[in-house]
Amino acid sequence: MLNFKDLDFTTEKFRQLCSAVADNYTSITIEQYLSAGNDLPERFVLMRHDVDGKAKPSLRTALIEKEFGIHATYYFRAKRNIYVPEIIQRIEGMGHEIGYHYETLSDSNGDYEKAIKMFEEEVHRFRNICVLKTISMHGASLSKYDNRDLWKVYDFKDFGIIGEAYLSLGENLNYFTDTGRGWNSKNNLRDFIPGRKQKFFAETTDDLIKLIKSGEMDNLYITLHPDRWTSTTFRWVLFWVQDLAFNSAKKALRMMRK
Ligand SMILES: [Zn+2]
Repeated sequence: MLNFKDLDFTTEKFRQLCSAVADNYTSITIEQYLSAGNDLPERFVLMRHDVDGKAKPSLRTALIEKEFGIHATYYFRAKRNIYVPEIIQRIEGMGHEIGYHYETLSDSNGDYEKAIKMFEEEVHRFRNICVLKTISMHGASLSKYDNRDLWKVYDFKDFGIIGEAYLSLGENLNYFTDTGRGWNSKNNLRDFIPGRKQKFFAETTDDLIKLIKSGEMDNLYITLHPDRWTSTTFRWVLFWVQDLAFNSAKKALRMMRK
């Protein structure tokens, strides 16, 4: 029998992760990391959220982080139901950084001129409602275009952006991502930092928490997708599947008896 408490990627598991992070590291935003120069805390964590699906689940993770005094960075796509000014401003008000999760090269099917124009417009949309200093590319896995390639032709610094979450961060960071529902999953094609070598590994969130508590790492760069941590939906689906199995078993029994 599947026990809800044993499931990974639930809100409760996220809370445990935040608790371990807050006990062992100073959290800084990507913007703070990039502006710190040599002034970085001795032990720090970067909590980065890529908001790929609806905006709403990110409110829940942002509130939990606030509870633990964690300052995270939230990258929002400029899409309907994701670019939601009220939610973005509430999260910024909690002390988190807001960034732009861009995808204009894949959106424009590789038309660089169109892509950079769209990028500029979307940067303005964000600046109308919040402070914007950093960006992260959306890994549009179904597109043949890699959104980072935009910066082979243009420079994001021309738009007042100080860094890109994949391209501008040092190779000495210990990188973990929940993409593929395992922390060092090989399932994700583009969600990695080119050229860097991973020294520490974790499969489940419990593994990651253990690693955090061990104190072995000086730093952590954790990328999460808030909509993957919605325990209520998951619970609902779980019960739905159980009910379905239960009902078809009942039906089969009835038919056998006839
Ligand atoms: Zn994304």
